[in-house]
Amino acid sequence: MPTRKVVIIGSGPAGYTAAIYAARANLAPLMFTGLQSGGQLMLTTLVENYPGFVDGIDGPVLMETMRKQAERFGTDMIAEDVASVDFSTRPFTLQAEGATYQADTVIIATGASAKMLGLAEERELMGRGVSTCATCDGFFFKDQNIMVVGGGDSAMEEALYLSRLGRKVDVVHRRDSLRASKIMQERAAKNPRINFLLDSVVDAIGDTKAGKVTSVDVRNLKTGQVTTHLVDGLFIAIGHVPNTALFRGQLELLPNDYIKVVPGTTQTSVPGVFAAGDVADHTFRQAATAAGTGCMAALEAERFLEALQR
Ligand code: NAP
Repeated sequence: MPTRKVVIIGSGPAGYTAAIYAARANLAPLMFTGLQSGGQLMLTTLVENYPGFVDGIDGPVLMETMRKQAERFGTDMIAEDVASVDFSTRPFTLQAEGATYQADTVIIATGASAKMLGLAEERELMGRGVSTCATCDGFFFKDQNIMVVGGGDSAMEEALYLSRLGRKVDVVHRRDSLRASKIMQERAAKNPRINFLLDSVVDAIGDTKAGKVTSVDVRNLKTGQVTTHLVDGLFIAIGHVPNTALFRGQLELLPNDYIKVVPGTTQTSVPGVFAAGDVADHTFRQAATAAGTGCMAALEAERFLEALQR
């Protein structure tokens, strides 16, 4: 197979934006969309904070639109997961479904996955009351009862953000002490709308029949007592895992496993390999920021290829 100028791994907002830019620069990008294409926005319903859609847009519809836009300019798509990469020499080598591909530049946009509790109802009610992003979905729970799961900084941040919107916010944490930084803990503790349910776990989420969250059963681990809380929104904030297992040993990763990039760029520790979106961003994690860095990665890949020809 001929060496591709640009190969993109991942098909969230970062990957598609990189594809649109690379394709319009005549670089004929090849994109591995993954078996489950579209990234985290496939797990949400209405997206109201992505610019350009006055009335919002459904997450999966937004991703399909981005896909069509990338295809329109000539992106080749392969609906497979990349099995392994070798970035030790250029052209870089990628293996997928038994075939070998070579690339002068690679843009990694494999994203991060929100950790989930593992309850059956959780997936079913995702985007229907269950969320992993307060900034994205908090607005839908104005003056309603909200529950946040987790005891880290993310959970405190989500709870504080949601306390400005909801009627009350219960924070459920599995231990008797929080993991969050002292300052975040203090802010949450001082907030009259935030209430803590410690030593507690979520046992069940109602109501899949109604197709929306109406209640959450919380079990106290010390007493065994299960209490049903009437709740409209359940925010899971128990951390994210960057999808970087494929790149371990090939690229420099940060201690938290996100890809290390030169600040203000998408350049990784290997010249010619760029990282965009959540896979290299544990701070903002927004579709709009992912699209922005996807654009940067394509422009940086283009410049890298130009420099090779000089
Ligand atoms: P985290 O620090 O790893 O905290 C995850 C929390 O979720 C922990 O309290 C953990 O409980 C709980 N948890 C994990 N798995 C669980 C499960 N299956 N069921 C129930 N609870 C579970 O993750 P994070 O809060 O996303 O933060 C990640 C990093 O980003 C941290 O370094 C954090 O400081 C940083 N961050 C900073 C800010 C800020 O400064 N503004 C904001 C967000 C994140 P245990 O405590 O029992 O392990």
